[in-house]
Amino acid sequence: MLIIGGGAVGICCAHYLNELGKDVLVVDKNDICSGSSYGNAGLIVPSYCIPLAAPGVLFQGLKWMFQPQSPFYIKPRLNRQLIAWLWHFRRACTATHVHRSIPVLHALHSASLKLFDELTNLEGLDFGLEKRGMLEIFKTRNGFEGGIRDIHLVEAFGIKSRILQKKDLGDYLGALQTPAVGGAYLPHDAHLLPDRFVRQLAGHIEKKGGHLLTGCEVLDFKISGRRIAGVTTTRGEILTQHIIIASGAWSANLARRLRIGLPLQPAKGYSITFRRPAVCPALPLAMAEARVVLTPMAEELRLAGTLELAGYNDVINMPRVQSILDTAREYLPDLDLDSPDMVEIWRGLRPCSPDGLPYVGRSPRYDNIVVATGHGMLGISLAPITGKIVSQLVAGHRPSLDITTLSVERFG
Ligand SMILES: Cc1cc2nc3c(=O)[nH]c(=O)nc-3n(C[C@H](O)[C@H](O)[C@H](O)COP(=O)(O)OP(=O)(O)OC[C@H]3O[C@@H](n4cnc5c(N)ncnc54)[C@H](O)[C@@H]3O)c2cc1C
Repeated sequence: MLIIGGGAVGICCAHYLNELGKDVLVVDKNDICSGSSYGNAGLIVPSYCIPLAAPGVLFQGLKWMFQPQSPFYIKPRLNRQLIAWLWHFRRACTATHVHRSIPVLHALHSASLKLFDELTNLEGLDFGLEKRGMLEIFKTRNGFEGGIRDIHLVEAFGIKSRILQKKDLGDYLGALQTPAVGGAYLPHDAHLLPDRFVRQLAGHIEKKGGHLLTGCEVLDFKISGRRIAGVTTTRGEILTQHIIIASGAWSANLARRLRIGLPLQPAKGYSITFRRPAVCPALPLAMAEARVVLTPMAEELRLAGTLELAGYNDVINMPRVQSILDTAREYLPDLDLDSPDMVEIWRGLRPCSPDGLPYVGRSPRYDNIVVATGHGMLGISLAPITGKIVSQLVAGHRPSLDITTLSVERFG
């Protein structure tokens, strides 16, 4: 059983397959957890169920496109894959799509959270899972009203949260002052240390007899009718019975080699990690209008944000990093973000599908390929349930959740 990609998704697939007694080999072109799974915000978000593709997002995105420090940026260029992706994205920005996706995402996140609970019981795993919920704060009246509308929308699907007036924010922020006009408390969300989670689980897989091969890039596939007999890699050929494509933002390139239609764009985001200041929020906090999140992570504090569609380029755009820092200072003027305490500036490429739902399922073209990618902003949160479903598919069992809306060739 060959798993291409050693990020959160690939490692979770390997874990649940290993648990079923399958002989697993994970290959990664770099290191385990060297992609998007490394420096992200580590949030597990059953409350965050409105997909990226929603009414109004496109208009907002177009407005932001021309502001260099905006939370969302598309580098204008004539690229066939980008144009096709934007076309599908535009078509998905409807209320019908949102209503169809909320229960799907909620069921996936909730099942994943339960699996995270189970994973904390594995010997040697301590990845800082904390179930304190999340605070969302709004700096403008308009933003707050929009946030309340979203809360009412998801409430109709049974997702509970608490709307907070300005005077209530102190209960969550302690000594930190904020100019925010209101907020919301999302009690069911959780957070963890993402790199520790992926690496510890990878270590556990090795202990249980699984194999990891790093510095090994899959270049092509050996196709024989409806079966893939193996792969050509930078370290030679590997023959296998079954292949899982869990290669994050790079999955689209592999899918293209197999003629599997998989619209996917790499969406760059940044994080800045600091040593934890003396006065710091005790729970994750989303600065809503600016789409920046802050996560307390053990002895550290991480700020993360921006979504930049600029192709496969991992250049660090410092004005965007600065804009994340400026946002934190605007929302929390007393938070001490001193540069000597900075630990790391990081960027990662999220694997974004046009409709904001992952691709999880078998390819209709081949008998021995399963695809698990396209998790966009939600790949840590959804990694365990994705791994579980992939293991069920490989074993020929019925998946524990309905995955019709996640089908691999849904865009044709
Ligand atoms: C700033 C930021 C904040 C985020 N915050 C959150 C959050 O709070 N919660 C959340 O749930 N998600 C969050 N995300 C999204 C999350 O990080 C991703 O969805 C998730 O990490 C995707 O995991 P993955 O395993 O699919 O991809 P990756 O972690 O990118 O792993 C893919 C792996 O495949 C390997 N690979 C690629 N091609 C090949 C090949 N040809 N051969 C061999 N190996 C290959 C790569 O080297 C890489 O290691 C955030 C992302 C960013 C950028």
